[in-house]
Amino acid sequence: MTKQDLVVVGAGPAGAHLAYEAAKLDLRVLLLERLPRDRVGDKVCGEGIALHHLKNAGIPFPTGEELGTLINGIDIYPPSMENYVTVSQRIEGEICDGWTIDRLHFGQRLLKRAEDAGAKVTDHAHVIKPLLDKDTVVGVQYKDTTTDKIVKITAKVTVDASGMSATLRRRIKHPLIENKIALQDQAVCYREVLELKQPPEPQDRCTIIMDERYSPGGYIWIFPRGGTIANVGLGTQGGKGHRPKVLYKKFIASKPMFKGAKVITGGGGAAPIRRPLWSYVADGIVFIGDSGCHVNPIHGGGIGSAIEAAHVVAPIVKNAIEAGDVSTTGLWPFNVEYNRHHYGQKIASLDLMRRLLQEVGNKEFEFVINNRIITTEDLLRANAGEGIQLSATDKAGRFIRGLRKLGLLRRIQKVSKAMGEMLRLYKDFPASLEKFKAWKDEVEQIYHNLGYEL
Ligand SMILES: Cc1cc2nc3c(=O)[nH]c(=O)nc-3n(C[C@H](O)[C@H](O)[C@H](O)COP(=O)(O)OP(=O)(O)OC[C@H]3O[C@@H](n4cnc5c(N)ncnc54)[C@H](O)[C@@H]3O)c2cc1C
Repeated sequence: MTKQDLVVVGAGPAGAHLAYEAAKLDLRVLLLERLPRDRVGDKVCGEGIALHHLKNAGIPFPTGEELGTLINGIDIYPPSMENYVTVSQRIEGEICDGWTIDRLHFGQRLLKRAEDAGAKVTDHAHVIKPLLDKDTVVGVQYKDTTTDKIVKITAKVTVDASGMSATLRRRIKHPLIENKIALQDQAVCYREVLELKQPPEPQDRCTIIMDERYSPGGYIWIFPRGGTIANVGLGTQGGKGHRPKVLYKKFIASKPMFKGAKVITGGGGAAPIRRPLWSYVADGIVFIGDSGCHVNPIHGGGIGSAIEAAHVVAPIVKNAIEAGDVSTTGLWPFNVEYNRHHYGQKIASLDLMRRLLQEVGNKEFEFVINNRIITTEDLLRANAGEGIQLSATDKAGRFIRGLRKLGLLRRIQKVSKAMGEMLRLYKDFPASLEKFKAWKDEVEQIYHNLGYEL
């Protein structure tokens, strides 16, 4: 086969959207997917996506069979479910915050857009390993699962968009590339799509419950999918021996709203919930989506940030190819751009908040919500990666209400301050490899000061 400009491994949101963007830039693109093409998009997922992600990437909004329902905020509950905080991220002039979607239909649409733009797609292509010229990736080797034949593809740039499996990243030998994601930095989940007896309430908001009895180190979600359908699941912190399916069944049995519900589909999955990779690029290769750890560490959402990564990296890859430098240095602008100006800085900051939340037990979370120590505005700021900065006007009141848990209050403030520092560091991500070492030392120091392992 003719040498490709770009070979993309995995046709999930990251890979399919990159194939689309790169083909639009007149690059010769081959997208390899191990699934049969009519299963592309079929992934265990909460199926929620915020509007701004699609808007920023220029993807038309979901309609028809792809659309679950319009979402106008997220209600976050402590275990008792007596109080809640609503978070809404409406862009002015838009009709909703986001949607629940049918992932299979969404995935099929992204795939078709890529093909219509000129990308070639090969399904049943199980990528096994990278092809190397010394330490530079120059393509991939895959098995055609319909014939068992081994096929080699060469490309100027290779992209690992293979999701959590990170087929290529785990085989790259490079000082900046982390091959494995620690288990405790993974969310291990179970979810079902249920047909309930009654429509889930509220029908236009997602429900999140923080309850360590059922979702230690994670949360439970109930996402309305339109009518009586709901996507319900939970995530737990990996590496701790939790059994998400068992916990999920216990949770469902504890809530009358699920009595008599019919299971349409169910299954388990995992997502990386950690700080960004030190580098999303190495010689001849780029990592995006779950393979690049482009996932929000707080809520585990990664569809939007995967699409955003694809959007950012496409012109950078084109420039590197045109300049004849696809080395780590030539592709480095992707690290700079995604971290300084896009989702990278947010992921970095929110990883600290994720660590904080994983320290907090049921009683403390209950206390924080019931006493309005943390408000909607705080959560919105926190979700932007800015930390929970208790506003001056309200500080005294919250301080008095928080006196009984002074230690917790201090911890929140310490982590919030560190989140601000992290944001600042990522907004100043080093423009070149030469300055990277000193910068990395500063990031590591923040983790060290909080007592968090890297
Ligand atoms: C239970 C659960 C719930 C979630 N809920 C949400 C949510 O509500 N909202 C949200 O935004 N995110 C959610 N996420 C995260 C989201 O699913 C991912 O972040 C997103 O799918 C990442 O996209 P991706 O393209 O990187 O990877 P994927 O969507 O995983 O796509 C990777 C593709 O690569 C293919 N592939 C893998 N290995 C190979 C190989 N060796 N050769 C060829 N092809 C290969 C796969 O078949 C797949 O098609 C959830 C994740 C889980 C586990």
